[in-house]
Formats: sequence, structure tokens, C-alpha cells
Amino acid sequence: MAEGFQRDIQAYLELEANINLQDAGLRDLYQAVSKAAMKQIREKWENPGSGKRACYFSAEFLLGRMIYSNLLNMKVLDSLRELFADNGLNIAMFEEVEDAALGNGGLGRLAACFLDSAATQSIPMDGFGIRYRYGLFKQYFQNGFQREEADGWERFGDPWSVRREDEKVRVEFGDQSVYAVPYDMPVIGYDCAMINTLRLWQAEPVREFDFPSFNEQRYEEAFRERNEAEMLSDVLYPNDDTDRGKRLRLKQQYFFVSASLQCLMARYEARYGREYSHFPEVYAVQLNDTHPTVAIPELLRLFMERGELSYEEAFPIVRSTFAYTNHTIMAEALEKWDVGLFMSVLPQVYPYIVMLQNGLFRELKSEASMETGRYAIIENGRLHMARMAIYGSHSVNGVAELHTEILKRTALPEWYRLYPQRFNNKTNGITQRRWLALCNPELAALITRTIGEGWLTDLQDLEKLRPYGQDSELLRQYAAVKRQKKEQLSSYLQKKEGVCISPDFMFDIQVKRLHEYKRQLMNALSILDLYFGVKDGRVQNFYPTAFLFGAKAAPGYVRAKGIIKFIQEIALKINADPQVQDKMKVLFVTNYNVSYAEKLIPAADVSEQISAAGTEASGTSNMKFMLNGAVTLGTYDGANIEIVEQAGMENNYIFGARVEDLDRIKGQYDPRAIYEREPRVKAVLDTLVDGTFSDGGSGVFRELYESILYGASWHTPDHYYILLDLLPYCDARMKVNADYKDREDFTRKCFYNTAGAGKFSSDRTILQYAREIWGVTPNLKS
Ligand SMILES: *Cc1c(COP(=O)(O)O)cnc(C)c1O
Repeated sequence: MAEGFQRDIQAYLELEANINLQDAGLRDLYQAVSKAAMKQIREKWENPGSGKRACYFSAEFLLGRMIYSNLLNMKVLDSLRELFADNGLNIAMFEEVEDAALGNGGLGRLAACFLDSAATQSIPMDGFGIRYRYGLFKQYFQNGFQREEADGWERFGDPWSVRREDEKVRVEFGDQSVYAVPYDMPVIGYDCAMINTLRLWQAEPVREFDFPSFNEQRYEEAFRERNEAEMLSDVLYPNDDTDRGKRLRLKQQYFFVSASLQCLMARYEARYGREYSHFPEVYAVQLNDTHPTVAIPELLRLFMERGELSYEEAFPIVRSTFAYTNHTIMAEALEKWDVGLFMSVLPQVYPYIVMLQNGLFRELKSEASMETGRYAIIENGRLHMARMAIYGSHSVNGVAELHTEILKRTALPEWYRLYPQRFNNKTNGITQRRWLALCNPELAALITRTIGEGWLTDLQDLEKLRPYGQDSELLRQYAAVKRQKKEQLSSYLQKKEGVCISPDFMFDIQVKRLHEYKRQLMNALSILDLYFGVKDGRVQNFYPTAFLFGAKAAPGYVRAKGIIKFIQEIALKINADPQVQDKMKVLFVTNYNVSYAEKLIPAADVSEQISAAGTEASGTSNMKFMLNGAVTLGTYDGANIEIVEQAGMENNYIFGARVEDLDRIKGQYDPRAIYEREPRVKAVLDTLVDGTFSDGGSGVFRELYESILYGASWHTPDHYYILLDLLPYCDARMKVNADYKDREDFTRKCFYNTAGAGKFSSDRTILQYAREIWGVTPNLKS
């Protein structure tokens, strides 16, 4: 493959740009390399086989930069590196190409890891979503405040997509009709095991925008129609947790769901006609959170209207088709739509929701003789999408063991009582191709030298590393890799952020969406406590530490933006204080995204996973850090529990209240008592209001302060138990700091984290979905 690939790159350049390799610019090179790769895989891509396929419906796919991972999976990355080197070029040039950030955070990144894993494990699974013109906003800072700008991810074109004009479909709304045009991306498994498809739909007007027949009134109509159509796939909602009940958001959901189902129906009907009973033998549809849940009444509608099936005939087919993944138990994230809004946007779908509700009530009365109240899909003028998802699916899964237990016991106990067999766990995972082979080739090479390359497609192989935990030569090499990654990050930060972070420091990193439940504020307060401690002598022998943050706040999330500003103020103060110059540095990196994660995570010594117990469904950055050999400093929450189970409690730092503890004190928690009792807590919290820092007159620091001590109309004081966990957190932090000084012993802890990360491959996760939910088997022939 490598030779044909090299030849094709040069051919494309000559043919399409009339230029040779040495003289080509970034855009031409990006296009030529990508198209040459596309040519290599085309034939295999176009012959997908005929077995049952899984369809992953997701409003988000946080793909990141595609070129390197595609070439890695095709095993042509080294050959390209050589070709470029021979011509005085460096493949690092493609770091200028923006990430495809068609997602917010963990949920969207999970979808992207699943694509990679399914194709690698030869599981026929296609992704379906929206081709947002603008993905997640770009972040920059102005006086320490977050500012946003549009993310045009197509600046260098989109050579990895193929527009399929002939497969466009109409999508109808109460007040609008648009085309959905599919753009297909190949999803290339490792070693081209399988090539699946990510189909992203773009909204376009039904009417041609025809200049020749220019006529002022028609022009304006057509112009408005075009804008209203294109709006549907214009921009990703920059929100990963709250439901804002926006009409456009509902339209986006139905837009991609309707288009995707039409596409599945057309393929199905070509084989079976309108005899729909075999549908679940051909397709399994996984709903990534409730965002695509309108698929349930929509498929019911299609079966009943096109196949003239009765509800009793159609519903079992629908239910056997769908499975639902829950990602959160936070009330504000559970989608509910106003009935009036829904009826005006989707009048043709609403009657089928009423049918679902009636069907559910009949089932409740006959089988379980239960009262219907807590189950109602339509309640007080609102549609409860999670309830509809559970009723209309044959599987409901949580994303880590603790999360699934909370779903059963606390969040959805009435549903668990009704359908116990429906609930199951699928602990999240990450792809080791991107999150080790690609982002940390130095560690990947060390591992491969030691245990062979089997880990690339079977991460459990990392267990073979364990015996080397006593091999001080190997540990020395392992530590040298970490040092190298820290040096690389350090020079990148110097260049990108203009801040000097010495690689001699310990790197302590918290990167994830900015949210109160993730408690970046607690991290900030703890840094202040350390800072005061170092200055007044309470903290002795402190190992120099760089505290790094990366996070975007939803543009309308005022408190989250206040927390960013607070951290920026802390960074200014500490970084400018000569007394702690050689002890502490604080940096909030700009525009955290997948590509930034690939640089930060391999350089981390400490992974901050400090959510309030019971709030982080799983987390996946915790797994990326673990794989790259950072210890977890975290709460007993989400997948952290499984991480320490695999890597050993003694190799990580778990602190703070557990779910049981919080359940016990709920209702009587009094953060003000802690504030009054603990001078250190008071000292750091007071910096929000005593003039130590400036919030530019916005009042946001005082609001944060009051949210902790007094609460607000919509929540109790210190809703996420920051003051409760703050001192135990500071203690745990000091323990990490002290342990770090024994460099060999600490390196061994890191090493056992890498060695224990086998469970957290998304290959394992996706194989479980395939076997236990979809009934899809790996297609090893293809
Ligand atoms: C992995 C990842 C996330 C998820 O991080 P959590 O800490 O699990 O919330 C979010 N954003 C990006 C860019 C990621 O790569």
C-alpha cells in the first residue's frame, strides 16, 4: 500500500494543483495526502458486507483531527513521514488543520472512540449525525475572561468526506421542508480491518437558489428559505448538560434522525419490501443519550403509515430495534420538551407519542398493575424524553458500574422495578490508537519493545507489563519517556501560551468541560491554600508543581465563566510572585480540544478527577491519563472506582466523601459551619470577595461565594460539596507531592496505571455492546 500511496500523493498534486511536492502549500498537501489515502481504501469501503449492522445515532461526534489517526490506522504514517522528510517537509505541518469539533466533550468523544473501535474490531457499525458547519466554538481570553469565536473547521477543505447527492432525502416540519444531504466519511479500522461509515447530514433548501430568473420578491423568498434551511445544520449547541428547550435544537434532532431512518428504511425495503418484521434482524440502533430519541415515535410512524401495521404489530419491532444509553442523572440534563412546541414543530410525530404513552399505560395496568403517574411520557404539558427512551428500547445502559447502580437504585428505580432485565452496564472506554499510539509514540514504542504490538488491538495485553514493575532499567526508560513528553509540552506551552513551565516540575492537570459538578473551583481553592501555606511556612518541602487547566464553559453559563476568570486571576498572582517562582506555576491553556488533549495528557504526572461523588457518570479523560501513566487524584466516582480497582488503590490517590456519605448528610449539610470552623477554608473562600482578586466589576466572584455559602433560588448552598471535600483534597494533594519525591517509587505507581489500563479500551466496550445489546458479531471475513 505504501508505494501506491506515495505515488498517488504526487499524482494528485501534479494533476489537481499542477505543482510538485517540494513547492506545495499546506492546503494542497492536505488535500493530496487525504485523497490519496481515500483512494487506497475506496474499494473496501464500497463493499460493506451484508450482515446485521449497528447504527450509532448521536448528535455529537467529537472527532478531532482526522488525518493522523486515519493514516496511523492505515499503517502509512511512517511512509508519509519518510516521503515528507525526503522532500524537506514535516508532517507536523498538519497540526495547522483544525479539529473537527462536532461535539462538546465526553459524550461526543465517546462516539468517536466507538467508531474507531468498531471498525478495528470488525463490527459493522455506522455513525449517524449532523454535519455542523460550525462545531464547538473556539475559545480565547481577554483579561482572563473567556471569549468565543466561530469554529470554521473546513478552512483546508474536507477531503475525508464524500457528498452523496443521490441519497439526499426530504425532512418535513410543521412549518418547513428541507433536504438532508449525506456526507460520508470512511471510518478506518486499524490495519484496515474494516471500513465503516460516518454519515453526517447537511441541511439544504428544497428550492434551487436560482440567480438567472432574478426577480426581487422571489429572490428574497428563496434567500430566506435557504437561510432557514441551512440554519438546521449551522451550529452545534455549545452545551453538554442543560436542556434549553430551543425550537432549533428540536429541529436538529428530528432532522438527522428522520434522515437517518429514511436511509435505513430505503435500504431495508430494497431487500424485504414493506414487510417490516425483519427490521431488527438487519439493524440495531443505539441512541447516544436522549438527543436522538425522537427516532422511537418516528420509526413507529414510518412502520404504521408505510407498512399499514397496527400499533400492536409495529411497536415490538420498534422496541427490538432501539437501545438507549444514559449519560447523566443530573435533572437539568434530562431532556423535556414543551408539548405545544413539539406539536408545532413535529405535528406528524406527536400522535405517535400519544400512542406510546397509551401503550405504556396499558402495559402498566395489565402486567404490573402499577400506578401510571411516575411513568408518564407526557406530563404537565412536557414530554419526558428519557422515559420515552426507556419504554421504546429493549436495553438501557449506564456508562460505568457506579452510574448504572445509581440509575437502578436512585434515578430510575420505578423503571428498574418494571423492566429489571432491560438495565445493563457498559463501562466507557477510549481508543488506544489515538490515546496512546498516536499521542505518545515514545511510550507506545517502549511498550511494543517490551511486550510486542498486540496491545494495539487488544489492550488487555498491557497486563504483560506487570512483571516489569520490578525492573528498574525498564522503569528508568518509562520515566525518561514521561520526561520527554513533559519537555515537548513545555516548549509547546512556551510557544502557544507564552508561559514558561519547567519540565522539572510535577505536572498536575485538570482538563474537561467547565462545570460546577466537576469542581474546578475546588481545585482553584486548593491551589490557593497551598500558595498561602508555602508563603507562611505551613507547607514545607513542597515539590515544585505546575497546575494546568483546560476547559471551555458554555457561553451562557455565567458561573462557569466566573470560575475561569477566578483561575486566571490566581494564575496571574502566583506566577508573578517571586517568593514562589521556583515552587508553583498555574496555567489555564487556551482552546482545550482533542488535539490539545493529545499533548497535555501524555505529559501529566497527576490526573485530576475530582467530581462530587455520584455526579460524573463515567469520565473518559481519567482513562486517557491512566493509560499514559498518570496517577489519579480523585474522588470515588464514575469510572475512577474501576480505575483504582484495576491499577491498585495504593497507586492512586482517592479522597473525599463517597456517595453513601453524601446520601447520609443530604438535607443537613451546612457548608457555613465548615467555613466558620476552618480558618484555611475561610481564608481561600474569602479571596472571592475581599478584594484579593478582581472580576472586572462583574460581580461574578461574589455570586460564586454566595452560591457556596447561601445557595440560590434553584439550589442549596454548596450544591457540590466543595467545602466538605476541600481539606481532605488538600491533604491528598500533599500526599501526592510528598510521594513524588521518591522518583522511582512514584514512577512505579504510574507504570502500574499503564499496566492496569487494559479494561478501558473502547474495543472492549464496543464488543460488549455488539454481543450483549445488538446481537452483531464481528465480521472477520470482510
Ligand atoms: C476525553 C475528552 C473529554 C472528556 O473528558 P472528561 O474529563 O471525561 O469529562 C472532553 N473533551 C475532550 C477534548 C476530550 O478529549
